[in-house]
Amino acid sequence: MTGNADATAVLARRDAWVTGWDDRGQARFLKDIGADLIRGHARLDGPRRVSVELPGGSAVALTARHAVVVCTGSRPNYPELPGLADVRPWTNREATDSPKVPGRLAIIGGGGVGVEMATAWQGPGSSVTLLARSEGLPKMEPFVGEMIARSYAEAGIDVRIGVTVEGLRRQDRTGPVTLSLAGGAELEADEVLLAIGRRPLTGDIGLQTVGLEPGSWLEVDDTCAVRAVAGDRWLYALGDVNGRALLTHQGKYQARVAGAVIAARAPDGRWTPPRGARTPPPPTAVRYRRSSSATRRPARWA
Ligand SMILES: Cc1cc2nc3c(=O)[nH]c(=O)nc-3n(C[C@H](O)[C@H](O)[C@H](O)COP(=O)(O)OP(=O)(O)OC[C@H]3O[C@@H](n4cnc5c(N)ncnc54)[C@H](O)[C@@H]3O)c2cc1C
Repeated sequence: MTGNADATAVLARRDAWVTGWDDRGQARFLKDIGADLIRGHARLDGPRRVSVELPGGSAVALTARHAVVVCTGSRPNYPELPGLADVRPWTNREATDSPKVPGRLAIIGGGGVGVEMATAWQGPGSSVTLLARSEGLPKMEPFVGEMIARSYAEAGIDVRIGVTVEGLRRQDRTGPVTLSLAGGAELEADEVLLAIGRRPLTGDIGLQTVGLEPGSWLEVDDTCAVRAVAGDRWLYALGDVNGRALLTHQGKYQARVAGAVIAARAPDGRWTPPRGARTPPPPTAVRYRRSSSATRRPARWA
């Protein structure tokens, strides 16, 4: 392909894929599977308890019978760089929802977010400069970063390896940004994307109420149970927040693992596997018995 993609068409297609950032479809899915959706800011409030602050300021208190699962994800890593806050850098949010294609985009960081967003914005017409301390995609084999750097150079992306950004300043509120690089060089861009790693989004989710450190990664065992929680395993952490692998498919994999484990560990004994018998009439039973395990009554026939 030569030339740039049609920016208006690309952004319209992106917006269509994410249904204009309207999550009613996902909300419907939750309703269909019988789950309650509560929109608000959730915080742990002691073992098995969660308090959700609703948009109007009121709160909903929840107590889990078996488990609480934290899936709050991650946020961009903000380095201590002079002038960074004043230039209002793009994070992954603006990099994926900006309605405008910046003329010149400087990307700080050569990990997954940095290299993917270089391709995404160079396509519809940004002039992209990618600045990285080490080779691109450092978690992969070195030849991968080298191949990407070659392909980016051919596509017109300016890849600069071994570069450290020491400071940033923006002229006026909306003018260009100047990046000061180690060694004295400067680079001008219209927007700067910060892509130098991720931090867990656990700073304000009540971790202190269960003896954990706010802002920390939630280290889990292979069942996704949080290791540091004392007593029986009731707290689980899935997806980016446990720091194991910050990838969509890994979060989904962990959700399947933890879902099965939580059901298996549910202590009330009411779970019964689907079953049937070849008798007249042929009974079948699924899901829970109406009675508790304490009464030891058999599953009711469907
Ligand atoms: C630019 C970019 C490109 C990527 N590309 C890829 C890729 O190509 N392939 C890949 O596999 N992965 C990719 N990833 C990574 C992938 O997006 C993440 O691994 C994945 O989204 C993590 O899912 P999650 O459910 O853990 O967190 P998230 O998707 O971040 O979801 C967390 C949710 O929790 C909510 N939340 C947070 N705190 C609270 C609270 N206190 N109360 C209530 N709700 C709360 C948030 O609003 C959000 O809805 C990319 C990431 C970025 C940023």
